[in-house]
Amino acid sequence: MNRALIVIDYTVDFVAKEGALTCGKPGRDIEDSLVSLTEKFIKNKDYVVLGVDVHEESDPYHPETDLFPPHNIRGTEGRHLYGELMSLFDENRSAIYFMDKTRYSAFHATALDMKLRERGISEIHLIGVCTDICVLHTAVDAYNLGYQIVVHKDAVASFNQPGHEWALKHFEQVLGAKVV
Ligand code: ZN
Repeated sequence: MNRALIVIDYTVDFVAKEGALTCGKPGRDIEDSLVSLTEKFIKNKDYVVLGVDVHEESDPYHPETDLFPPHNIRGTEGRHLYGELMSLFDENRSAIYFMDKTRYSAFHATALDMKLRERGISEIHLIGVCTDICVLHTAVDAYNLGYQIVVHKDAVASFNQPGHEWALKHFEQVLGAKVV
């Protein structure tokens, strides 16, 4: 079966200690498993996608402007990939599809669904942050579009532990995902 790995928002602003909207230590604790999973999918020649939030500074039309501090602003350090993922990306640029997204879901107003369908991919593996925001919204869209979903619980994290745990149950019980 053709499968894809989708890595959500593993950037400096979302993960680093000084990140603008950091999910804190839980986000940094998943670095090793997130990076080694990504490496494994690259080696296996699976389709690997980095879905990365992008915002314009104080965009009056964006709903997140009123909800969250400015984060992942285009052209800033905060939007760089965090830690070892950056070097893995640098070494494997041709094997990775780096994709901007402007909403929580990696499917919303992006080419992701088309890219997956072109490749005959029906199973998507989700990792990254935050479990209960961008990973969740991506999973909901994937469910509605008919994809099989696998969530790797050691490679997703949130600043909100109850939210993280709730989302893991929701993936399994409501979206029919495998949580592994
Ligand atoms: Zn955002």
